[in-house]
Amino acid sequence: NQDAVASPSPSVSVFGNERRWADTTSYNTKKKLQAWFQLANGDWELGKIISTSGNESVITSDGKVLTVKSDSLVPANPDILDGVEDLMQLSYLNEPSVLYDLQYRYNQDMIYTKAGPVLVAINPFKKVPLYGNDFIEAYRNKATENPHVYAIADTAIREMIRDEVNQSIIISGESGAGKTETAKIAMQYLAALGGGSGIEYEILKTNPILEAFGNAKTLRNDNSSRFGKLIEINFSETGKISGARIQTYKLHLKSVNDYKYLRQSDCCSIDGVDDAVNFHIVKEALDIVHVSMEDQESVFAMLSAVLWLGNVSFTVIDSENHVEPVADECLVTVAELIGCKVEELKLPLSTRKMRVGNDTIIQKLTLSQAMDTRDALAKSIYACLFEWLVEQINKSLAVGKRRTGRSISILDIYGFESFERNSFEQFCINYANERLQQHFNRHLFKLEQEEYIQDGIDWTKVDFEDNQDCLNLFEKKPLGLLSLLDEESTFPNGTDLTFANKLKQHLQSNSCFRGDRGKAFTVSHYAGEVTYDTTAFLEKNRDLLHMDSIQLLSSCSCHLPQIFASNMLAQSEKSVVGPLHKAGGADSQKLSVATKFKGQLFQLMKRLESTTPHFIRCIKPNNNQSPRSYNQGLVLQQLRCCGVLEVVRISRSGFPTRMTHQKFARRYGFLLLENTNSQDPLSVSVAILHQFGILPEMYQVGYTKLFFRTGQIGMLEDTRNRT
Ligand code: ATP
Ligand code: MG
Repeated sequence: NQDAVASPSPSVSVFGNERRWADTTSYNTKKKLQAWFQLANGDWELGKIISTSGNESVITSDGKVLTVKSDSLVPANPDILDGVEDLMQLSYLNEPSVLYDLQYRYNQDMIYTKAGPVLVAINPFKKVPLYGNDFIEAYRNKATENPHVYAIADTAIREMIRDEVNQSIIISGESGAGKTETAKIAMQYLAALGGGSGIEYEILKTNPILEAFGNAKTLRNDNSSRFGKLIEINFSETGKISGARIQTYKLHLKSVNDYKYLRQSDCCSIDGVDDAVNFHIVKEALDIVHVSMEDQESVFAMLSAVLWLGNVSFTVIDSENHVEPVADECLVTVAELIGCKVEELKLPLSTRKMRVGNDTIIQKLTLSQAMDTRDALAKSIYACLFEWLVEQINKSLAVGKRRTGRSISILDIYGFESFERNSFEQFCINYANERLQQHFNRHLFKLEQEEYIQDGIDWTKVDFEDNQDCLNLFEKKPLGLLSLLDEESTFPNGTDLTFANKLKQHLQSNSCFRGDRGKAFTVSHYAGEVTYDTTAFLEKNRDLLHMDSIQLLSSCSCHLPQIFASNMLAQSEKSVVGPLHKAGGADSQKLSVATKFKGQLFQLMKRLESTTPHFIRCIKPNNNQSPRSYNQGLVLQQLRCCGVLEVVRISRSGFPTRMTHQKFARRYGFLLLENTNSQDPLSVSVAILHQFGILPEMYQVGYTKLFFRTGQIGMLEDTRNRT
């Protein structure tokens, strides 16, 4: 057991809610030790062991005396380890100790903590005095070693220049955890160090535009990004910013209610947010990225078309409850704004053309179908508008067209989600996170392992969570979740229930899959089990935008014809929508939402794989967006979701500190009490190790380097500093 050597370390079982660290040593029988015990609400509290008999221990906590089950106690770290800046430094690595360390720091506005190679950022939900030029200077000059986004950005720049390899900063976390803010903070640092040409100013200005059009107030975040974003910042050979490119992964996943469909939400104002000021900022930003006045006007016209569309209402026209839109001010205004006749707009909102065999039939819509069609139309106008804006921004930022230099990409992407009820959206998001996790694992653990092997050290391979089984469950053809979903989506008679049954029939052999009662199934993700409800899976996967709407939009003479001309037609060429539209002949099949999603994900992974990644995990300390409030259970759940404990455990169980023989001999050689006969760096190094009594299991000698377990170099450094 690798762990047992470093410290009485915990072992962990990975899946299921019962997952928690169980210590294998008998530490808790010792008197006077501090230990964590769990309250009825699940929170952990610190106590001191007074006595132990049988399987019960008596402890004191906060002046109270309690009797608890001995095996429910978890060891606490000595006080001197309070608030360590890297979780790797904890002697006892367990969930309550990690929670405590993060909370201890958070209470003092130290919102950043290292977890080995990963930066953990806890959302302060208030202004913290950690940013700005003085801090940027301090990190640039290496005057501080406190964990920080700036430090990550600094390392990225340095490694980009040193290794001549593109870099990426991968920021993940759940909604409201602070990803977008963190991305901006990283951009600030890169702009400060790579600035000079003025382009950095434009790059920073893209944030308000993307946020204005791509964000919405949700229950979980007042300013929630409805899209994933990758911004690639290009640097010249001299390390100056030469341009940038933004790619959005707006995946058309969110319901239209999430957009600025204001009528439906009662939350048109947010405390402390001044719409007029923000509007001005956005207009100014649009100027800066060179969107012409005329185009700006068109953008706002299209926006209002979307809003008016949301107000279009319907009236029943026959005994079978078919409907058509009411020709009131709303409908007339929408038609005017998008540039078509009222009758032309009415048609796709009340009927649907369908192909059955070789015939085309016209089906009248019921109220719910008509409303879905209306919302899909609004959503697609909005999506096209957004894509067009991103395109304009990219044109404006592509200053240094020659891609000679290197780049740093910042990825702001939604993290793993697990709710009480999980639907198609969570299914896609969690699949993406499963891929990102594999990238993370590969990078951190496989590369790590390769380095040991390359240097020829005897190192029993560390087990790391390999999530290939879970990825296979999603991706295998023809019997994987995605393939089966697409197949069922094209069957005219496919329903959510037939889909769920197919999964149970074909996937039971995969250990990550479990069929549940009715329409549900459970996947064992790296971050835990998630039960998905297949209700509406097929419909969401088919995408609701129908041919008739596409045709309408591509034929209208709206104010931004180029938006629809390019985007819509491109879609309609390869589009035939829905089960009944599927026909032979010249029509190709429209890509399903899941397949598009997978395609984008693969592109993203391809780009990331050619970079050196740096990881930031954002954590939301409470659900109220309030400062100074730290909900242990909530934090713990997120730590599990992003594998923070796992990465610390694995990093610790290896030999994370390395130094070449030369450097080691040079750095500590003068501490030798007796001269060695040899000047050979390896012999000098070994002599030092012996003199300081460093145990053989605490280090390994490689061909070129010495490898140490955590904490071993500390003693040498202390002696060196005192000398
Ligand atoms: P979503 O996935 O919904 O887009 P997110 O992870 O991008 O969420 P942010 O929008 O970055 O979350 O953060 C939510 C809010 O938290 C911000 O609007 C801001 O008020 C606050 N916040 C986040 N990070 C910081 C920080 N470092 N300092 C101060 N406030 C912060
Ligand atoms: Mg965001």
